[in-house]
Formats: sequence, structure tokens, C-alpha cells
Amino acid sequence: GGMTSHAAVVARGMGKCAIVGCTALEISHEQRQMRIGEVMIAEGDWLTLDGGTGRVFAGDLPTQPSEVMRVISGQQPASEAPIYQGFATLMGWSDGYRRLKVRANADTPRDARVARNFGAEGIGLCRTEHMFFEGDRITAMREMIVARDEGGRRRALEKLLPMQRADFEGIFQAMDGCPVTIRLLDPPLHEFLPHGGEESSLLAASLNLSRQELARVVSALRETNPMLGHRGCRLGIVYPEITEMQARAIFEAAVRAQRRGIEVRPEIMVPLVSDVTELRHQRAIIERAADQVMGVMGDTIPYLIGTMIELPRAALTADELATEADFFSFGTNDLTQTTFGLSRDDAGRFLPQYVDGGIYEDDPFQVLDRKGVGKLVKWAVRDGRDVKPGLKVGICGEHGGEPRSVAFCHEAGLDYVSCSPFRVPVARLAAAHAALAESAGDR
Ligand code: PEP
Ligand code: MG
Repeated sequence: GGMTSHAAVVARGMGKCAIVGCTALEISHEQRQMRIGEVMIAEGDWLTLDGGTGRVFAGDLPTQPSEVMRVISGQQPASEAPIYQGFATLMGWSDGYRRLKVRANADTPRDARVARNFGAEGIGLCRTEHMFFEGDRITAMREMIVARDEGGRRRALEKLLPMQRADFEGIFQAMDGCPVTIRLLDPPLHEFLPHGGEESSLLAASLNLSRQELARVVSALRETNPMLGHRGCRLGIVYPEITEMQARAIFEAAVRAQRRGIEVRPEIMVPLVSDVTELRHQRAIIERAADQVMGVMGDTIPYLIGTMIELPRAALTADELATEADFFSFGTNDLTQTTFGLSRDDAGRFLPQYVDGGIYEDDPFQVLDRKGVGKLVKWAVRDGRDVKPGLKVGICGEHGGEPRSVAFCHEAGLDYVSCSPFRVPVARLAAAHAALAESAGDR
């Protein structure tokens, strides 16, 4: 658990309240109840969560969306919302001062629309794996994972392609005229598989496998350290057909959207790169897919291919990466994890003590660590732009929506920050503060 565990990141992106890794809760699945200290709560009882502070309240506390949210979601007219009007004025002032662009992390057309309403100027991160979990998609995804050979994988990928294409087309439409950064598949494959129980039996039956065969596949995918394992671009290198399908879906969606009069600006991003050869390998597949789609459909799509910088080695070899990248995007969730050697999914258990005890000034997953992670960011920006002066550089880790970290991004010369749609206004204001602070310093 913790602020940048995937569950928390996804919940934040969707605007859902969530608490991840609350060690004070003892949950008993068998008894369908949980205990917090002396308080026992049974299945069906009301709870209220404050995702900002991590507090859990017994009972059903009355809540309502803020006035800003009501206007943004179309439930209240702006003309009858004085708080919203004040908010809009402040945002207008901010936009007049800031240099940093503000994008959003959004994975679906719906999230993209929310982001745009909050003033996002593009998408800085679309995590494509989140499109694979719904309805039939997870079945096709699982079929791909358990396939015995490339032919089997390709057959399953063919089923996923139209679904991805439809999502991308919806996102291009919501972001008409703005850049959309789409990241290739990132998480370890075992995350898509059931781990025992009835779901495993159903899956085995639907895939024509025995339970034992399925168990063998699941156990073969198990890793001791999945965060450092077979994930990121390592998937697309071992299974190039995945990258090929995703790139095809992006370009076909772009052509379809463009034919409907939408201005598309796809930016395809390769995750967890540690060496330029990985990026070169993936770039060649993406370019081949682009040429094929554009050749067959007869349309031209302007596009960029870039890399995430999520590993210290990527930052340290930024000069080499820049030769193959049209842009860099700092994935500071993983870059923090790998620079500190701290698991982002587990550190929540002891980090609060570190912060309370003054060992760390801040939780580095929440506030960007200037001394270490920040040094790598600055190094990569400098070395990348030495090789390619116009290199576009942004950030898409959770820090992109945190005010002090946004100030750092301004100082480091980034072009944009990208954050959850709901944090876009915070980032716009923080970017203006950073620009104002700089001009006050100049005077
Ligand atoms: C990151 O690592 O900062 C990032 C944006 O990718 P993810 O959170 O999906 O690992
Ligand atoms: Mg990452």
C-alpha cells in the first residue's frame, strides 16, 4: 500500500476515495468482518473513508461533491455557482503566469473528458493495461498470457486490438488538438491472472486447460521481485507481438479519428527502459506498425516516440537515450522506488515512522526528493538536451500533481507536468506560483 501503490494511483485517477495498506484494519474474509482496535464492523455495515488523510469513520457520514465538481460534471450551472466562479478566476490568473504545461494521467475516454474540463492540456500518461481488465477483455488478455506459442498469442491479441482501438479513438476525440501520450503495456503479466479459487477453475475451463496446467502457467510467472522483474519494455522485447498490436491499435484509431475531423497528436511511450538498445528495439516495431497502417489506410499521422525515465540507469545514460527518443517522461514513482531501493507497494508499512521520526523530511513518494531523485532528473534533462536541444521533457509520476514537486519541475526546465485529472487545478496554480517566485527572485 501507500500513496503510489498501483491501487492508490488508479483510484486517484478515477476520482475514487481509497485507502491502501491500512495496517490498523484486521480483515477476516471467513467471518466477513473486520476489526479496528476494539471496533468490530460486519459486512454490510456503513463506513466512510477519507482518502486524503487515510482515516476510516464508522457509519455513513453525509458527503457531497464540491461546487467545483458539480459544475465540472454538469450538475450545476456555472452562473449559479459563486465558488466555482472564484475558482475559474484563480485558474485564469494562474494560466496567465505559468510556463509549465499541465497534462493529465487518464486511461479512458471518460477520464480524459474530466481532465479536459479541469483544464488539462493533453494526456501525459495513458496506462494501457487498465483497458484490459473490463468484461471480455480480461479473458482475451488471459488467453494471450497462457498461449503456448506466438501463434496463440497473436490470435488472442487480435481480439484485444479492436477494444484498444475503440478506447484510443475515444481518448483522441476527448483530447482533440492536444497531445496524448500512450504508454505500452507495463505490469508483470501475473497481475492479470487469477490466483486460485473458483475464478481459476472457470478460466481453466474457458481456455480448455486442466486446473493443473493453468496452475503451472501461473506459477511459472510468479516472481520474487515483480517490480524489478518481467515488466515494462521487457514484455515487449520478449513478446514483440504485444507492442505490434498496441502500436497498430494506436495508429488505426488515430486515422479513424482524423478522418472524423479530429486533430490527433499521439506520443507513444516505452516504459521501464534501462538501455538505449531496448528503446531502439521497441522504436523499430512501432515505426514498422506506423508505416504499415499509414500505407494501407493512405493517411499520414504525425507522431512521437519517447521513453519513460524510471530507472537510475536510464537517467544516467540519458545522452544515449536521447538519440532514440523524441521525448522523455519521468516516471518518478518507479524512479523514487529504484533510487531509494524502497518498494512502493510495501514502504507504507514503515515510511510513516520515518517521516514522523524525522529520518526523512517527507514521504519521497509524495514529495519529490530533490537531493537524490531530483539530481537524476536534472542530470537526464541536461544530458538529453545536450544531444537533442529541442527534446520535450515531462513528468508523469504522482509528483506531477504535488505543489512543491511542481515547483521543482519548473526549476528543472521541464516542459510539462502530468497528474490525476482531479489534481490538474492544483498543478496549474503551483506552476504559476513557481513562475512568480522565479520572476520575484530575478527582480
Ligand atoms: C511511474 O513509475 O512514475 C509511472 C508513472 O508509472 P507507474 O506508476 O504506472 O509505474
Ligand atoms: Mg512506472
